Amino acid sequence: LKDVGVMNEPILSYRKNSEERKALQQALKSTAAKCEEVPIVIGGKEYKTDKVMHQVMPHNHAHKLAQFYYADKKLLEKAIKTAVETQTKWDRVPLEDRLQIWERAADLMAGKYRQELNAATMLGQAKTAIQAEIDSSAELIDFIRIHAYFLKECVKYEPISENIKVTKNSMRYRGIDGFIAAVSPFNFTAIGGNLAYTPALMGNAVLWKPSDTALLSNWRIFNIMREAGVPDGVVNFVPADGPVFGDTITASPHLAGINFTGSVPTFNRLWKQVGNNLDTYVNFPRLIGECGGKNFHFVHASADVESVVTSTIRSAFEYSGQKCSACSRMYVPESLWPQIKAGLLSEVGKLKIDDVQDMSTFTSAVIDDKAFKRITSYIEHAKKSPNLEILAGGTYSDSKGYFINPTIVQSKDPKDRIMTEEIFGPVVTIYVYKDSDLQETMKLVHTSTPFALTGAVFGQDEDFIRCALEEFKIAAGNFYINDKCTGSVVGQQPFGGGRKSGTNDKAGGPHYILRWSSPQSIKETF
Ligand code: GLU
Repeated sequence: LKDVGVMNEPILSYRKNSEERKALQQALKSTAAKCEEVPIVIGGKEYKTDKVMHQVMPHNHAHKLAQFYYADKKLLEKAIKTAVETQTKWDRVPLEDRLQIWERAADLMAGKYRQELNAATMLGQAKTAIQAEIDSSAELIDFIRIHAYFLKECVKYEPISENIKVTKNSMRYRGIDGFIAAVSPFNFTAIGGNLAYTPALMGNAVLWKPSDTALLSNWRIFNIMREAGVPDGVVNFVPADGPVFGDTITASPHLAGINFTGSVPTFNRLWKQVGNNLDTYVNFPRLIGECGGKNFHFVHASADVESVVTSTIRSAFEYSGQKCSACSRMYVPESLWPQIKAGLLSEVGKLKIDDVQDMSTFTSAVIDDKAFKRITSYIEHAKKSPNLEILAGGTYSDSKGYFINPTIVQSKDPKDRIMTEEIFGPVVTIYVYKDSDLQETMKLVHTSTPFALTGAVFGQDEDFIRCALEEFKIAAGNFYINDKCTGSVVGQQPFGGGRKSGTNDKAGGPHYILRWSSPQSIKETF
């Protein structure tokens, strides 16, 4: 990408006394000082309903950050009508003009609004400054800028015209008539931006249902895109109750696609509803989903211990393990276990779990009460089960914020549910295997869970790496050799998993944008 002048947005470091740290602190102060009113926006018009909701700070849940409103069925139907009417007009806006809007938006995100975006992500989603920076700054800007670059590249393709004096063949990349529903998660502000605005870039009109717990940061994106020039009605901002939203969009004959990141049960539900209503649709709706994982670090006896330890601490506990990609199970050979165990216990003891506004915090609270209950139920399971031993952490409190200490569990049973189910929190479970059982332990990785999102192997032995590339071919959509299984970079490691982890359409890759087009081939005869 560098060669063609497109670069990943550089990450700022927020060192003491740096300009960026001062600007961030200012933004944090003003964001925390008020409870912001966030309306529903349909076709540029603002609405409020009597279903009043609040976004609180996860690390201090008494503090309300934003007040917002759920769109009801009637408003959602209005949004669908608006989107469908807007789509045909928007799709006619020349590509060059659309690309310019996206370029302007990326510049606004990188400059004027960077710290406001980061502050909303930090306070609303309990991310530390650096975790916010890699998300609501770097990754968001990359999604906007690099998907625009990929679109420019794909329209360059010219179909073969054998005799240009007689026939000229060409392709038009159209949006899809109807509307796209974007349903985005709390854990990455950037994903919200991508799910709503990449289909829009291609000429689609969108209903964007942001996550209740990422409301403010997503609202910031919506406003920046408007300021950059996205016309009213192209993206409609409609916070809503999940099932009401799902039922309403899937009941419309104009549903052209769903761009989803969230849980397997919700995606299953949407898919089934689409299946049931299939006869009523104008199009075959495109269903794109990223649904979670049970990501692994697999260690070989030839691995570098220090790198295993650092990678695991970061991958399992940064942002409290609330990345779809987070490491949540680990396989370690007996021969390395004493050193790896000592390293993990020593490092985990140094982590500071606190308020995100304290710059020395490593990670903070989990997102909400529901997450707190789900994650701690696994910790309680570990306390009770004779096959499981808690080596570190295992403590939690939700009195002020939803705090769970990074927890390391050792399991004698590689098929215990703590090693096979998605937890989505700061809990990593380790299975120690006999060095002589390497082959059968490798098989367990993809036979013991339905997920296949990310995974990493650690080892210097080339035969092992070759063998792992074969054995783990279906075990992960993003596969890392001697590096942690989180932290994919747009344009560098396009992201997505197979099996029950999703449709693997690779956000941040060159083909993602094409999923949102219904291209037209044109043969012109003279
Ligand atoms: N792309 C992110 C990573 O590689 C994870 C995205 C997600 O959590 O959905 O860490």
